[in-house]
This record gives sequence, C-alpha cells and structure tokens, in this order.
Amino acid sequence: KIEKFVPPVRTLLGPGPSDVAPSVLEAMSRPLVGHLDPLFILMMDEIKSMLRAVMLTENEMTFPVSGTGSAGMEFCFVNLIEPGDEVLVGINGVFGRRMADVAERCGAKVTRVESEWGRIIEPAQIAAALETTNPKLVAIVHAETSTGALTPVEDISKIVHDAGALLLLDAVTSLGGCPVRVDDWQVDAIYSGTQKCLSCPPGLAPVSLSDRAMGVIRARSHGVQSWYLDVNLLANYWGEGARVYHHTAPISMNYALHEALRLVLEEGLENRWARHEANHNLLRAGLAEMGLGIASQEGHQLWQLNAVSIPEGTDEAAVRAALLNDHGIEVGPGLGPLAGKVWRIGLMGHSSSKENVNRVLAALKELL
Ligand SMILES: *Cc1c(COP(=O)(O)O)cnc(C)c1O
Repeated sequence: KIEKFVPPVRTLLGPGPSDVAPSVLEAMSRPLVGHLDPLFILMMDEIKSMLRAVMLTENEMTFPVSGTGSAGMEFCFVNLIEPGDEVLVGINGVFGRRMADVAERCGAKVTRVESEWGRIIEPAQIAAALETTNPKLVAIVHAETSTGALTPVEDISKIVHDAGALLLLDAVTSLGGCPVRVDDWQVDAIYSGTQKCLSCPPGLAPVSLSDRAMGVIRARSHGVQSWYLDVNLLANYWGEGARVYHHTAPISMNYALHEALRLVLEEGLENRWARHEANHNLLRAGLAEMGLGIASQEGHQLWQLNAVSIPEGTDEAAVRAALLNDHGIEVGPGLGPLAGKVWRIGLMGHSSSKENVNRVLAALKELL
C-alpha cells in the first residue's frame, strides 16, 4: 500500500521555489469552480489588473500563461519570432543560454553576446553587437538566478530601440523582489514565474506584451507554430470581452496567484523591494564576518539570490546536505562554471526575512 505523501516543512532558501505564505496554500485548497464560471472570470480580471500593478505597466496583453517560467519564455519567442528572424541574446548564465536555445528552435538566427558568469551584460556589449547585426529582437535576463547578477535594463533598452529592435526581458527572479518597470523601461515583452519572488507555487508564468510587440505579432507572415502558446488564441480566453474556451486554466494555481499578488500589493512594491534589499545586506554583513564573500559582480548583486563563494577545501555538497537534513534549510548549488564554487542562497519573497537570514548564518557558522 502506498502511503499519502506528506512532505516535511523546509525553509526554502534556494534558487526557487521560495516559501509560500499560509494564505496562498489555503487559497489552493478552496473548492473548484468551472473555469468559465462568471465568478472565476471576475477573478481572472483581478489577476490581470494586479499583474499590471506589479509589473508597472498599462499593457492590455498582461496575463499568466499556464505553465512555469520556461513556458513564459517559450510564449514570448514563439509569438515574436518567425523562421529566419535575427535575434540577439545576452548570455551570462543558464537562462540566457536557454533563451538562445528556444530562439533557435523557433528558426531564429541567433547572435550570442556573452559575459563571464557572475558579471552583467554591459550596454556597450549590446551596442557593439548591434553595429554588425540587425536583429528583430534583443533578449536579456534581468536577474540571472544561476549567478546572482542583476543586469540594468534602462540603457540597454534605449540602445535596442534606437536600433529599431524589440526588447525581451526575463524577469522570472526579479519580479516582486526588486524594481521591474515595464512601461518606464519600454520593455516590449516580459515573462516571469510564480515560484520566485512572488512566493506562489510553480505553475504559472505572468507575461506582458507591449502594443508594439502586438503589432509585430499581427504582422507575422507565418502562423505561430505553437497552438498552446499562440497569443492570438489566448487573447480570446484571457482578453477582454466574451471568453472562449482555449484550454482549462489551472484553477487552483490561479487562486494561489490571486492571493500571492494580493499580498504583494498589500505590502506595497517599494516596501517589498526594501525588505529584499535589507535582508540581502544583513546576509552579506553576516557572511563577511565569517570571511565569506559574494561571487557576483560588485555593485550588481541580486538581493534575492546570493552566490556565496565556497571556502577552499570545503565539501560543498556535504554542507548543503547538512543544511537540509539537520537544519531543514534548502540552498542551491552552483551551476555551469560556478559548480563547486558557490552556494546559491535565495532570499525570495516570503523567504526573505531577518529570521531566515539569522538561521542560515547560524547554521553555516556551525557547519564550517
Ligand atoms: C527559474 C527561472 C527560469 C525558469 O523558470 P521555470 O519555472 O523553472 O520554468 C527562467 N529564468 C530565470 C531567470 C529563472 O530564475
């Protein structure tokens, strides 16, 4: 006989998922209604308006794609890219690489602008690449969760638009943890995920497309190759006016996102960003006292994801295992060139608290 699966209570201080507020879990346990129930549709409208408030945009086409953050990535590329289009991708970690892979699968001719992992994509690198290429789209990862670096968007946005291209931003880890200003920064396409700084379980990918991006999509000469992610079809389901069945929205996940967004707005964006900054500073100071530093580029370190340099001679996997088994704390390993060199300590959303910083510092002190 197979027993019920009852997970332990962990403290999630890794690269995501983050801890979820009790009221979000409670929202998920509420009764199902039909996905075209008038009350569910009203709730979908509230999700769209709260997403606009959290993304600081007026974009009409703002809604959660049914799928994780990677589905949001795929949604942006399949709708904006046609075979043969040129795309420029900034690569400074795992997620830039993934974007280049997705773009190539859409038939794009991809130019890679690479930085060392842990460093940002510099506006000058994009400007230089635009001298020899003429892309339809430039794609950047805002907060590189694999390395802990935050690439500033504003200057890059200006350079991209001066070259007549669209700007696509991966905001999976940034949204809800640090400023993301879609309209001010003139981001044309953006996707995020629910399980990082929005502190909701994984399963939805908030996206937003500017009117400019929608114009490019309307002018496509080939149909969108993905039926599931075609924004023209999704617009009849998530858009204004009569709702037409496309797929069945994951009802309980949408309850969860509704509550998670409500909590973000109740706290206030500025307060939430300030909390992430303060807890990052607290962690950084505590690590420094132990002689530990943060590996990503000085001045561009993420508040919500800290790539902590592992001291020489430490069995990094054993420390992570002890954190998990003896302290109930999950932290992440390094990836790619940073494997074995850093631990990734996430302080995302609900997990970003003074108590959690003090707990992980105390546990590390004991284990090292
Ligand atoms: C987590 C993450 C993704 C992928 O999201 P999934 O929910 O794992 O599919 C994409 N980009 C960044 C920056 C991420 O941190």
